[in-house]
Amino acid sequence: MTTASDYVESLLASYPDFPQPGILFRDLNPVFADAAAFRSIVDEIIDHYRGQFDAVAGIEARGFLLAAALGYAADVPVLAVRKGGKLPGTVLTEEYDLEYGSARLELEVGQLPAGSRVLVLDDVLATGGTVAATNRLVERAGYRLAGVAVVVELSDLQGREHIGDAPIHAILSL
Ligand code: AMP
Repeated sequence: MTTASDYVESLLASYPDFPQPGILFRDLNPVFADAAAFRSIVDEIIDHYRGQFDAVAGIEARGFLLAAALGYAADVPVLAVRKGGKLPGTVLTEEYDLEYGSARLELEVGQLPAGSRVLVLDDVLATGGTVAATNRLVERAGYRLAGVAVVVELSDLQGREHIGDAPIHAILSL
């Protein structure tokens, strides 16, 4: 049987020096473009965290793809964690450093009951700054962090060390 990890390993594309010199960019679009591969990723994440989450939060932009599919498949609410300046109303903001550059993420407040267990989703865990900022937003919004799931973890960058005690599941660690 082909596992999610097998699919990711065989379909993942890597681009040296994109979007800037020194970065080896991992492109998951060929993985998402394969229906069986995408389904296997969604199913594996749901199996791994079964019974442990009440909602999912996807990080802009590629985390949205995962969050939408997981929300539908697991029949749970979906939160969109957006880049700075895009959300209306009362929002929480976190600044963070990226593997390349720095950025700001935001979450609207009041979308879920207090104490909801939120599973955070993104495509790639690099330095961990993006996921760590999202985890802070989830907790500041009054929710509990159920865990983190990513498709690819770049283990050399030691992102796990920047996200505290949160459980993390990576489909493939490189
Ligand atoms: P980080 O905050 O360093 O963990 O970066 C994670 C975020 O940046 C994710 O949303 C990724 O989509 C993106 N990212 C960072 N480094 C890479 C990389 N080498 N290849 C693909 N995406 C990356």
